Amino acid sequence: MQVYSINSFRGLPLYFSGKHEASDKVSKKEQKNYEIPFVDTNSVLKMREKKGETIMKKSIKDLGNIEGKRALVRVDINVPLDSDKNVTDDTRIQAIMPTVNYLKDKGAKVILMAHLGRPKGEWNTEYSLEPVAKYMSKVMGEDVLFVATPVGKGAEKELENLKDGQVALLENIRFYKAEEAKDDDMTFANELAKLGDFYVNDAFGAAHRNHTSTAKVARVLKPAVSGLLMEKEIRCLSQALENPVRPFTAVVGGAKVSSKIGVLENLSDKVDNLIIGGGMAYTFVKANGGNIGKSICENDQLDVAKSIEQKAKEKGVNLVLPIDVLVTDDFSGNGTNKVVDVNNIPDDFEGVDAGPKTQKAFEDVIKSSKTILMNGPVGAFETPAFSEGTKAVLDAIVEATENGAISVIGGGDSVSAAKKLSDADKYTHVSTGGGASLEFIEGKVLPGVAALDDK
Ligand code: AMP
Repeated sequence: MQVYSINSFRGLPLYFSGKHEASDKVSKKEQKNYEIPFVDTNSVLKMREKKGETIMKKSIKDLGNIEGKRALVRVDINVPLDSDKNVTDDTRIQAIMPTVNYLKDKGAKVILMAHLGRPKGEWNTEYSLEPVAKYMSKVMGEDVLFVATPVGKGAEKELENLKDGQVALLENIRFYKAEEAKDDDMTFANELAKLGDFYVNDAFGAAHRNHTSTAKVARVLKPAVSGLLMEKEIRCLSQALENPVRPFTAVVGGAKVSSKIGVLENLSDKVDNLIIGGGMAYTFVKANGGNIGKSICENDQLDVAKSIEQKAKEKGVNLVLPIDVLVTDDFSGNGTNKVVDVNNIPDDFEGVDAGPKTQKAFEDVIKSSKTILMNGPVGAFETPAFSEGTKAVLDAIVEATENGAISVIGGGDSVSAAKKLSDADKYTHVSTGGGASLEFIEGKVLPGVAALDDK
């Protein structure tokens, strides 16, 4: 069997098989790629449907013989394209390959269903998935059938000759208004369901959406199970949140308290240490009477900051706030920068990064932790001059991970920071979902997971 090593998936080499062969011919090396290792050897997918309640969901590994069956698989391959429609970052494509290869090698016909961008229910070829199908064909070394009509008789006809182990990609499912409709009409779900013999959801990044392809289809097309990426995302995040090896430290950063209230509240009775950095820290500093100069601050969140601090105190959580900060008089990075005490920021300056004492305090806590969850950068890291604090935090997380800690980078800007400032393969898990991981960490039910079959 011809095997192409293209990239790596969270530290594991990832291979695309050149052509499908029966599963008994799959090499040991390839088989290993189906198993995404994690410290928890229990491979059961656990899911919190209500706070405190753990419900197990089925995964593709629970399916019996699927040879010749049509797998309708929701994936998140919303990849960036340049003006010539070249894929500029294929992380999301790489991330679904363990599921695609698993299904292929079990002899299923793999029908991928996805969205690209926000066409808002309009048929707009600017958002066509055809270039993505072409890209996948190239890297997989085999033809990925692009299905220009994603539902109805047209789709059924185009898929008629799909062979066992072959992969097809449906056109952007968001070309249909019914995909995102907030109603209980199941017509579109029933149409999509006709394309498969069973449903797989591997789109963790879209699992917080109650859309037809992410949730409704799962109600009518059974079995409805998770893919391997979805399973890993839920397993890693839920293990960190529900069953952490202690001490458990959360690093919460980013621009605003208001966008992270749910995260802070849910974490503040679970963690041992809560590190608060980045722009949101100044709302806490101001709530405690500090002078924050021109630093970003939400005056309507001062009470929220106080109540989070109070809750942490009551629960015995060690709240770690900045001690000193790098301030600037020019956010573009071309002005005067200096380190000052966090409570005494000059009027014409704003805090943009963690200072050296803060970095040391954050590092010490992180390095003595056994589980670390990061959500949000601790500075305006996109500007190199303000990235040192976030880099120090990431380096400490990598060091802790190398010493046996479990580390989860929880989506969104923290993932961009981890990729830009460090090696993303060095963490236990880097979530592929921004909004989805945020809502998961907030303790919310993700409709795309809730809709799957219980074990
Ligand atoms: P969020 O999307 O809420 O996680 O915020 C991430 C953004 O917060 C990043 O783009 C950072 O540049 C920004 N950020 C972090 N710290 C600061 C700060 N001190 N001042 C302004 N923006 C910040």
